[in-house]
Amino acid sequence: MKKAIFLDRDGTVNVDVGYLHQLKDLELFPWTVDALRLLKRAGYELIIVTNQSGLAQGLIAPGFVEVCHDEMRRRLQAGGADLDALYYCPHHPRGTVEGLSVDCRCRKPLPGMIEDAVRDRGIDPTASWVIGDKWLDVNLGRGVGARSILVRTGWGAEQEEKRPASQQVEAVCDNLMHAVSVILASR
Ligand SMILES: [Mg+2]
Ligand SMILES: [Zn+2]
Repeated sequence: MKKAIFLDRDGTVNVDVGYLHQLKDLELFPWTVDALRLLKRAGYELIIVTNQSGLAQGLIAPGFVEVCHDEMRRRLQAGGADLDALYYCPHHPRGTVEGLSVDCRCRKPLPGMIEDAVRDRGIDPTASWVIGDKWLDVNLGRGVGARSILVRTGWGAEQEEKRPASQQVEAVCDNLMHAVSVILASR
């Protein structure tokens, strides 16, 4: 069984511009390439899990997410990093695009994308981590038995201020690189 880092995309790996829908707005954080290289060297599969409900709302063109992910991987590869897989949820229960405006099993914090990755790639979720900038990312991880880290980039600082009293989390970190140091130190 393999172990993985499940990464939220917008606000965690790249700047969250809100419904990213054109390549010129794709901006990786300056530490993203190095952070992913360190995690890979530590033996983790690197898997993006991202809600892209802009597809269901007609705010993102069909096919753009694939174009965006190809470009993201190209930039990571240029720096000696890469991703093993990318999963996205195109749905929204109240969207406008037929076929995508549904109650699905994959919209975070529901675990569908992680369940798919566990099945597709033979991953042990209890040996894995989820990193994201929202409590829904943290709770996605907690729901599948993984450990979770909230990063303060993207929406994270605001989320930290609005932390529900019952919310649990392994760590709150300034950014993805800080999260990597927590993960590496935990072994
Ligand atoms: Mg995010
Ligand atoms: Zn979905």
